[in-house]
Amino acid sequence: MLPEQAQPDEHLPADLRYSRYEWQGETLVLKGGLHSCYFVDATLMINADGSVAPCSFDAQGLLTLGDANTQSVAAIWQGQPLRELRHKLQQERQTLSPCNKCSVGSQLFL
Ligand code: SF4
Repeated sequence: MLPEQAQPDEHLPADLRYSRYEWQGETLVLKGGLHSCYFVDATLMINADGSVAPCSFDAQGLLTLGDANTQSVAAIWQGQPLRELRHKLQQERQTLSPCNKCSVGSQLFL
């Protein structure tokens, strides 16, 4: 999730055939690219402070969709922020953090 802070070579399998990542120049990318995210059609995550995220991968709160202290879950589920996130995931996932480093919807392993 945070390759800019990690030392990827320390964590990748020695045999890169078993890695879900590959090097493209100096950049580590997911093999097979990024596909759709099924989480945004199935889940929400309510944090302890009431903020709502699409998933537990959004640990930094970059994709906050609403506030369960003041909004119903139904309103958040049907709200504009989640509709926009679903659209962006289809159209421009590579530009969207942390989705551009998330393995959900990626090709796994070989
Ligand atoms: S792509 Fe990953 S980080 Fe983005 S909403 Fe889906 S599960 Fe969460």
